Amino acid sequence: MSTLWLVATPIGNLGDLAPRAIEVLSTAELVCCEDTRRTGKLLQHAGIRAKRLAVCNEHTEFDLVAQVLDTLGSGGDVAVVSDAGSPGISDPGELLVAAAVTAGHDVSAVPGPTAATMAVTISGLPSGRHVYEGFLPRKGRERSERIDAIATEHRTVVLYEAPHRVQRTLAELTAACGADRPVSISRELTKLHEETIRGTLGTVDLGEPRGEYVIVVGGAATAVVDASDDHVRRELRNALAGGASTRDAVAKITAATGRRKREVYQLALEQETNVSPAVDTTDSE
Ligand code: SAM
Repeated sequence: MSTLWLVATPIGNLGDLAPRAIEVLSTAELVCCEDTRRTGKLLQHAGIRAKRLAVCNEHTEFDLVAQVLDTLGSGGDVAVVSDAGSPGISDPGELLVAAAVTAGHDVSAVPGPTAATMAVTISGLPSGRHVYEGFLPRKGRERSERIDAIATEHRTVVLYEAPHRVQRTLAELTAACGADRPVSISRELTKLHEETIRGTLGTVDLGEPRGEYVIVVGGAATAVVDASDDHVRRELRNALAGGASTRDAVAKITAATGRRKREVYQLALEQETNVSPAVDTTDSE
């Protein structure tokens, strides 16, 4: 029976290429890769030659399905690799797997490097229950909703980010989760300049961003909180009377109570016209 193999490749250090990856890549009838030059170099390093290469990226993966199913149907194994790490993790692969599963073929993997798993396991944050978020949407409502969901997520959250966007993403996470939220930021994993900075969103300083990043955000505190409208109103009153902007007050109270940002904002709007100068302490717990 032929098999579709998802083959993990190094995320920086070529020494992480597994012997079984080399075996599968050299025997597969077809190797699907994001970039033939990049994978060609890896194969050359391993001293092997692929029988046949096909380009599999976000533009070609759909069109590749027929060729992959044909190859599997005629008894040949197919391997899928990405430029780095595990295919299917913020990389092509998912569609080919779904097609092979639907067609009744065997699907397996040569597991190996994944930046997300390495970053979460070395973060020092709870790794037993974590959520992989990958890249955030670039902009708009989809992005802000995803960030709001991260602010109230109790499990550790793992994000990927490019160097030119990492500072903006950290600023938005800080606004939503609060400056005290623990974070671990890893760059250049397994490479010469590997670095992990641990602290809180308010204190970490990346300097000039260089290389590829994984951001690991600690989960929201799990203490039982009062999330009633009355409690939210009191907290808003206190925050606004203390000089916080509506935006900051809403972000902080959303993160603290787990309420929807939209609802907290609505309560803030009701309150804005009626800010009391005296700090209300009737619900201080
Ligand atoms: N499939 C890959 C994996 O298994 O990790 C992820 C591919 S995704 C297109 C590329 C992103 O992964 C980068 O922008 C970065 O966030 C993260 N990444 C990949 N290699 C990394 C490394 N060596 N150090 C830190 N982050 C890395």
